[in-house]
Amino acid sequence: MGKLRNNFIFITGGVLSSLGKGVITASLASLIEELNYKVNIIKLDPYLNVDAGTMNPYEHGEVFITFDGGETDLDIGHYERFTNIYFSKNNNITAGRIYRDLINKEREGVFLGKTIQVVPHLTNEIKEKILDLSQNFDFTLVEVGGTVGDIEGLPFLEAIRQMAIEFKTKVKFIHVTYVPFLENTEELKTKPSQHSIKKLQESGIQPNLIIVRSEVPITQEIRNKIALFSNLLPKYVLNIPYLSDIYQIPLLLLNQGITKLLIDNKKNNTIKQSKWSDLNIIIKKIEKQPNVVNIAIVGKYTTLKDSYKSLIEALKHSSIENFIKINIKLIDSLKHEKKVIKKELNYIDGVIIAGGFGIRGIKGKINILKYLRENGIPTLGICFGLQLMVIEFCRNVLKIANATSQEFVLDKAVNKAVNNEDFAFVVKLMEDQKYVKLVGGTMRLGNYKCKVIDNTLAFKVYQQEYIIERHRHRYEINNEYLDLLKEKGFIVSGINEELNVVEIMEYVHHPFYLGVQFHPEFNSRIFKPNKLFSFFINFLKTNKFNKTIN
Ligand code: GLN
Repeated sequence: MGKLRNNFIFITGGVLSSLGKGVITASLASLIEELNYKVNIIKLDPYLNVDAGTMNPYEHGEVFITFDGGETDLDIGHYERFTNIYFSKNNNITAGRIYRDLINKEREGVFLGKTIQVVPHLTNEIKEKILDLSQNFDFTLVEVGGTVGDIEGLPFLEAIRQMAIEFKTKVKFIHVTYVPFLENTEELKTKPSQHSIKKLQESGIQPNLIIVRSEVPITQEIRNKIALFSNLLPKYVLNIPYLSDIYQIPLLLLNQGITKLLIDNKKNNTIKQSKWSDLNIIIKKIEKQPNVVNIAIVGKYTTLKDSYKSLIEALKHSSIENFIKINIKLIDSLKHEKKVIKKELNYIDGVIIAGGFGIRGIKGKINILKYLRENGIPTLGICFGLQLMVIEFCRNVLKIANATSQEFVLDKAVNKAVNNEDFAFVVKLMEDQKYVKLVGGTMRLGNYKCKVIDNTLAFKVYQQEYIIERHRHRYEINNEYLDLLKEKGFIVSGINEELNVVEIMEYVHHPFYLGVQFHPEFNSRIFKPNKLFSFFINFLKTNKFNKTIN
């Protein structure tokens, strides 16, 4: 399919943020993959951070970790979950990175004698990066973060406008917009969309397709009106009304002809049987059956659901695989500082202690962990979750009262002058982290191998000797305490042999009490759920409904 090489589809957004541009981009990529084309996706983010690693999950949602250790925008997570692609950290281009690279070139003398300007130098830098990443792909989808009209986004819009001139018919633009529904007059309003389409056109960009998000389905009249303002035929205005499940979006777009409208290659533009239609049938069947497992996620970023995006999605993937509904409850660990509020854990079948950073909120997590361990409630600890499992066990079972993590002592905001001898660091700073000076991009990040020890719960989960999962941490379990922990039944069941770092631990006198140093949630896709979550859900289902594990 050589002649379809190097096509670009740019996706912009208008009116509001959070319209689901990321999911729409991911859906489209998956549909194009179903046509057997090679697809890549790039996310352009107008903010000035070099990457998302230093951003607050309360504000920006989760940081998604790529296989090669990129700390990226959470939309990259959607791209992976919907497609077969493995995204590199390079696929998330922030304005911060563009400026940094451009200024570095200036310092190196690349532009000697010249005045460096937004146009053409910054825009050229953007175009170069896009072109580099699009080589050897039939289609490159480029999602432009933010909304049209943002000051920060202007250089990106200018760069993609120029690409339309250079690559002519190989460039298509999709604009995602919002049509509000006014309840008191029961009217759909197109004015905000008209403005955002105008703004886009003012930037010299003519959309080829409009996708309207709305609370209720738009009428033909509304479609015609938007089409008129967009210089398009009404069939080029698609609609995604409010949906309960993001995995319905690919089929919805397919049924409205998105691939035919965008890819004018007559022979290859029909998907005979989309895997998304089969999936939607299964999802509907699951909704109709009565069984539910209740899962709690314990963390401190519970005010914004997006902070645990990958975790929640990974659980959804596994629930579909196990043909069971799940109900997820986010529990704020800060509420459990004094003592565990048992009522909050009523009806909960299994608990996940999520990853996290810093001393705030750990007391509550440790209280909850003690309760879960002592009461045989299935528990999965992720990264920080594993570290806290070890701290709790050392304090309450091994009676090491001053057991803690070096992270809490190094937390400068809390503790200025401390005497290290006062603490037993059962979780300690990793060896190579001692020399790290910068905060951004310096943790142990991305893929690392883990050897799974035979005859353990972990081995039952993975059923293979070596696994690869993604990481994001600075601290590790202190190997000096492993023998003591083992004596009481808290054993190591996964290890990174090269670095001698604990990767998985489990408590043998408990039905399911397992912690992992990695983040399995970054390795789960709707059509390829992660084994650990699938096993966990299957375990909870079997426990509750007493069926055989399949
Ligand atoms: N704060 C811990 C560390 O840096 C755990 C990190 C995490 O949960 N991602 O090691």
